[in-house]
Amino acid sequence: MTPGTASGHTHAMPQAITFHGAAETVTGSRHLLELGKKRVLVDCGLFQGPRELREKNWDPLPFDLDRLDAIVLTHGHTDHIGYLPRLARLGYRGPIYCTPGTKSLAKISLPDGGRIQEEDAKYHNSHGTSRHQPAVPLFTEADARKALKLLKEVNYFEWQELPGGASFQFKPAGHILGSAFAEIFFKDGQRIIMSGDIGRYNRPILKDPYAPDFGEYLVVESTYGDRVHAQEDAKGMIERILRRAFNDRACVLIPSFAIGRTQELLWHMNELKKEGRLPSMPIYVDSPMATAATLLYVKHKEDHDKELKIDMERGQSPFESHMVRFVRDSSMSKQLNHMKGPMVVIAGSGMCSGGRIIHHLKHRIHDPATTLLFTGYQAKGTMGREILEGTEDVYIHGQQIPVRAQIEKLNMLSAHGDSNELIQWMSSLKEPPKKTFLVHGEPHAQEALKARIEKELGWTVVIPKLHERHELP
Ligand SMILES: [Zn+2]
Repeated sequence: MTPGTASGHTHAMPQAITFHGAAETVTGSRHLLELGKKRVLVDCGLFQGPRELREKNWDPLPFDLDRLDAIVLTHGHTDHIGYLPRLARLGYRGPIYCTPGTKSLAKISLPDGGRIQEEDAKYHNSHGTSRHQPAVPLFTEADARKALKLLKEVNYFEWQELPGGASFQFKPAGHILGSAFAEIFFKDGQRIIMSGDIGRYNRPILKDPYAPDFGEYLVVESTYGDRVHAQEDAKGMIERILRRAFNDRACVLIPSFAIGRTQELLWHMNELKKEGRLPSMPIYVDSPMATAATLLYVKHKEDHDKELKIDMERGQSPFESHMVRFVRDSSMSKQLNHMKGPMVVIAGSGMCSGGRIIHHLKHRIHDPATTLLFTGYQAKGTMGREILEGTEDVYIHGQQIPVRAQIEKLNMLSAHGDSNELIQWMSSLKEPPKKTFLVHGEPHAQEALKARIEKELGWTVVIPKLHERHELP
C-alpha cells in the first residue's frame, strides 16, 4: 500500500503523520512524521503475535528508506524497536535517538532477536518448512549490531534537534526502564506528543508517568482503553501463593516478561521477606534476558523512584536478595525440572509463546501441586491465553499434556496504565489537542477509550487505520 500523496502545489510542504503500525492492533509501532521535506520515524517495532501479523514484517517498506532522516524511540520493547535491525539490513544509516535506558535494553534484546531470526531460518531450511526457498532471516545478529551503532543517547528533559527544523524532548513515561514519551516541536511551533506506552502511577521502582502540559496533537496508546485494573493487593496475593507452595513443598511457575515484570516481582518478594511475611525458599530467575535486564534496572539511576533510591543508597538492591538465584546456562535450567519444591521459577516468555517457561510447563503443568501464576496480558493465539481460558490440555513439543496446575493471575503488575490512568495522564494537558490519535490497542479497547475521551474531556479523537496519513495543519 502506498502512503497518501502530498497535497500538490500548496505554499509549504505539509506536516503529516502516517501510521505504519500499531494501528488497530498492539504491535508494530511505526509512525512516520513528515516535517516539510524531512521524514522522522517514531518507533520501529516488530509485528508480533498471530502469523498474519508477523507476516507484515516481510512487507515491502511503505516509505522510501533513502528519504528517512531520523528515528526516535520511546522505549525498548520489541514491538517498539524490534524492526530496527531490518531497517539497518535494508540500508538505514541515520541517527536513532533514545534514552540511555532504552539503549541499554536494545543492546541485549536486538542481537538476541537477530539470533532467533537466524535460528528460525535454519530450522525451516533443515525441515523443509520454509515458504521462502531457501528461508532467509528477517535480519541477523550482525544487522542488529549495525543498528546498535546508530543509537544516540538523549537524556530525559534534554533538547535534541531533528531534521526539518524540529526538536524534541523525552519525558519519563513510567512504563519500563528508559521509557519516555516524546514531545516533538515542529518548525511552526506546534507540538505533537508521542506517548509510546504509558505506565502506571504509584508503583514501585520507576517514576510515575510525567504530566504533559501542552500539545496541539497527541498520539496515545490504548492497550487497556477498555479496562480498569483490579485494585488487588499484589503483595498479599504473592504471599498467599508462595506460602501455599512452601507448605505443599511445591513449585510456583511464573511466566514473566524479562523487562519490568520480573523486577517488580522480585521487588515484592523482597518486601515480603523484609516484613517477615515469607519463609525462605529459592527464587530462580531462569532467563538470561531477565538477568541482564535486572542489572540494568540497578544501573540506570535516572529512572529510579524515591523508594528504590533509598534502597540503593543503603547499598541494597531489592532485586538481588539472598533467596534469588539467576540461572544463566540452559543445563542448569533443565536441572530445575527435576528439583523438588518449595521453589519459585520465573521464566519467559510472559505469554508462554516460547522460551524456557515451555519446558517447565512440560514437566509441571500436569501436577495439581504446581501453581502457574500469570503476570499480565495474554494475547490471542498464545498458549498463555489458552490456559487462562481453561483449556484441558496443551500441546508441547508434540506431546499432549493435561493442565492440572492451579492457575492464578496477577493483574497489578501490568506495565500499562489502565483506562483511568490514561485519562489521568491526558487530563494534565492544559488545552485540548486539535486532534488525538489512538494507536496500540485492539479495536474494542480503542472504541471504549475514544468514547471516554470524547465524553469526559470533549476532545476530537481519531482511530487511524494502517498506513493512514493525516496532515497536521
Ligand atoms: Zn511497551
